Amino acid sequence: MNASPSLRDLSCADDYDPNSMPVERARALIRQFLSPVTAIERVHVRAALGRVLADTIVSPIAVPGHDNSAMDGWAVRFADLVPGNTTTLRRIGESFAGRPFAGELQAGEAVRIFTGAVMPRGADTVVMQERAEAIDGGVCVAAGAVTKPGQNRRLAGEDLASGQVVFDAGQPLRPAELGMLASIGVAEVAVYRRLRVAFFSTGDELRTVGSTLREGEIYDSNRYTLYGMLARLGCDVLDLGVVPDVPAQLEAAFAAAAANADVVITSGGVSVGEADYVKALLGKLGEVLFWKLAMKPGRPLAYGRVGNAHFFGLPGNPVAVMVTFYAFVRDALRILQGEREVQPVPCFKARLAAPVRKLPGRVEFQRGILVPADDGYEVRPTGEQGSAILSSMSRANCFIVLPTATGDLAAGALVDVQVLEGLV
Ligand code: AMP
Ligand code: MG
Repeated sequence: MNASPSLRDLSCADDYDPNSMPVERARALIRQFLSPVTAIERVHVRAALGRVLADTIVSPIAVPGHDNSAMDGWAVRFADLVPGNTTTLRRIGESFAGRPFAGELQAGEAVRIFTGAVMPRGADTVVMQERAEAIDGGVCVAAGAVTKPGQNRRLAGEDLASGQVVFDAGQPLRPAELGMLASIGVAEVAVYRRLRVAFFSTGDELRTVGSTLREGEIYDSNRYTLYGMLARLGCDVLDLGVVPDVPAQLEAAFAAAAANADVVITSGGVSVGEADYVKALLGKLGEVLFWKLAMKPGRPLAYGRVGNAHFFGLPGNPVAVMVTFYAFVRDALRILQGEREVQPVPCFKARLAAPVRKLPGRVEFQRGILVPADDGYEVRPTGEQGSAILSSMSRANCFIVLPTATGDLAAGALVDVQVLEGLV
């Protein structure tokens, strides 16, 4: 967090209210402290999937490299075609993808051509094969088969020009980008190093899968949802297990996490009552702010620094962990791992298929199931919306985002939804 404002300055800001922090405000405050990693490594294009480009990529070639055919058909000179009538042309050869025709078209000539094949010299237009009939020694082109010169011809460089900046540093590398890099012959790229994220769960009641539960104990699920969300972001994860509510053990866990990671994420221990105790500990190890967010679920959130690592103290309830991760942590990690244009997941409108209950005063992220309807999309809440009901996250394919001022809504109302799984 070098060269960033101090957390103390921030807590003195005019509109700072730690007891009812608006989600947008908390996001903006956190953003000020995020400086991306700078270390770079070179990896093969396939290994770059999910990573962030650390270099500008300039295309060494034009893509496509030559004018070529968009269709299977006949390469012709547009000027030869008789308007409003059939035209008979002489066949002088073939152009296959990867095996171009060597000669040049003269007036009255045609070349049989296939998709992706280089346009023969002299030809400017392709007649699709469905609009032409091969005849002995030539082709008969139907009237009106093409309407303008250049039709069905792809131009050299229409995707990328030689010398063009294809990507800037900060570009996330998804399947399309891997393909584009390959299309310009790039086999290896510089990417930012992976972000190291350490996490642990806090709570005397928690047991790790594989052990037997005693009365009052529960299995720790947060380390599994966190693992999944972090792995999807391409982070290197360091799972420090369950830490009981014992100050010495918590302190040791925080120290180990901060020494080995760029980011430390915990769950539990930040709700009222527990927070004071964690607060004292974190005051000693770093600088941390505790916020009661004006959102549901996910009211308590701690953010700050432990040693040199960024720290996110998430609530303990399993749904609240996922919601606060998606609302705050995910984009922060994307910025830290070098992404330049981090945009929030888009919201769009859908019609409520069932009423929702809500008290004004906080933003709510209810879990919903979005299905296509006659006039767009329809969304139905998953049912019980308690922050401990993790099955509501599993059943959901979207959040229904209900703004602060909204109260109860009847079926049929238009609401904002945010899909949980994007295509890329
Ligand atoms: P806390 O914030 O520690 O008071 O936790 C709030 C609620 O979340 C309590 O019911 C905890 O038992 C539960 N909880 C905390 N951590 C976990 C976890 N890692 N897995 C499942 N439930 C948890
Ligand atoms: Mg606890």
